[in-house]
Amino acid sequence: MIALILEDNAFEQDIRELLMAYFPGHGFVHTEEEAAGASLVCRGEREGSAFILSLSFPEQSGDTDLHPEAYPGEFPAEAAGKTWTRSCQPDFAVRKSAKNEIKRTLYRLCREITGRELPWGTLTGIRPTKIALTALLDGRDSREIREEMREDYYTSGEKIALCLAVAEREKRMISGLDAVHGWSLYVGIPFCPTTCLYCSFTSFPIGAWKDRLDSYFDALFREMHYLAERTGGSEPGRGPETIYIGGGTPTALDPEHLDRLLTEIGETFSLDRLREFTVEAGRPDSITEEKLRVLRAHGISRISINPQTMNQATLDLIGRRHTVEEVIGKFHMARELGFDNINMDIICGLPGENPEDVARTLGKIRELAPDSLTVHSLAVKRAARLNVQRAQWRDVRIVNTQEMIEMTAEAAREMGLSPYYLYRQKNMAGNFENTGYAAPGKECLYNVLIMEEKQTILACGAGTTSKFLVPEENRIERAENCKDVATYIANVQEMMERKERRFRELRDCRA
Ligand code: SF4
Repeated sequence: MIALILEDNAFEQDIRELLMAYFPGHGFVHTEEEAAGASLVCRGEREGSAFILSLSFPEQSGDTDLHPEAYPGEFPAEAAGKTWTRSCQPDFAVRKSAKNEIKRTLYRLCREITGRELPWGTLTGIRPTKIALTALLDGRDSREIREEMREDYYTSGEKIALCLAVAEREKRMISGLDAVHGWSLYVGIPFCPTTCLYCSFTSFPIGAWKDRLDSYFDALFREMHYLAERTGGSEPGRGPETIYIGGGTPTALDPEHLDRLLTEIGETFSLDRLREFTVEAGRPDSITEEKLRVLRAHGISRISINPQTMNQATLDLIGRRHTVEEVIGKFHMARELGFDNINMDIICGLPGENPEDVARTLGKIRELAPDSLTVHSLAVKRAARLNVQRAQWRDVRIVNTQEMIEMTAEAAREMGLSPYYLYRQKNMAGNFENTGYAAPGKECLYNVLIMEEKQTILACGAGTTSKFLVPEENRIERAENCKDVATYIANVQEMMERKERRFRELRDCRA
């Protein structure tokens, strides 16, 4: 447990996120009483024009929240009983500058105490490439951007190079996009064959819903029709530029429902300016030849077949209920049916895996030669079974290392794939990032749009979030749908009204 006691909450989130990056896997408390049981106490207060930060490591704590096996890189033993204090002079009138100054001071303090650097330095947000892309779009050169990321955020040379490579490719991909009138569509199918151990997405076992899928489709199609009407998206030249059907696992649907869904999309929206159409076929155990033929018949341009790992013992442990051979077989089946843009997702830091396991996975993926590879670092979120039932998994090691991340980057290079999008999540094993690698021309534009927030993405279905871009002000407004499927079906009218409010605000701010 970490006690974070601040005089006011103006910088609470910034300080908490940096402490989470340095000491992942701990809960936070905020009162003096609770601080008595914490392993680390961080205090912060303003004193005139200065901000004073202190870190104390109590000699003994009643902390039961620690799970050092699961979250390596913990508090140094020699710090017990000691307190460190530093101050800085932020410009409180400019919030961003004050925030960065306070984070740099805290970072230097943590570095001094632990002897560790963080690859991303003080950057704790989920979109580090946004800094580089914004600067590139502003016409700044890469040398300047490199310096800013090193001096302002203490980002490592490798991560800066990765950020710049991604941002330069993104810049090329989004050039010519219509930020004002263009939009993309996301359709959520929140069902999977079973629930993976680490899953924090909106996903329910399809078996429990197979008799009620029509009710879900009724609600989903109402939302789609509303969007088509609201955007004029059924008219030529006004439909979505990208469509992404995710979830969940859309191919968990039976072939008839999959066909009905894709037919409805084609009849509801004009697809004449569609640049890509992705369907997540994520779980190999959900794929059949019949379903792949349905996808082909509807012109799906990109699918994702996700092994996550090619080690059977790990697949069994994380509840994927499919075999390594199944991944290979379904991949070849998709190729034979003509899919020429197949992505594969893998995860570094899966329970019990070490670098040899990652090497084995990469070896098998290299033989398949997918068109893109997305490398995730495991993020254990609050709702995941791995967290909820953590007492059960205390003996399972979760380790993600720079070595593993470098192995994946090297394997991608060898397959002719280079990075094109990147994002980070909270509670990521090893505090690394998720990186999408793709062959030239095989990138997923939707992934870039959702990460860099360069176009409005309208979403329908349970657990989805629409993001309305206000390009003049470079900001995003969100409208969220509820996650629970039954609640979504019962309240689809309210989901449409939430979007309607955003449409009106958008119109008002443009008026
Ligand atoms: S396949 Fe993805 S969405 Fe489905 S249960 Fe597994 S992690 Fe969750």
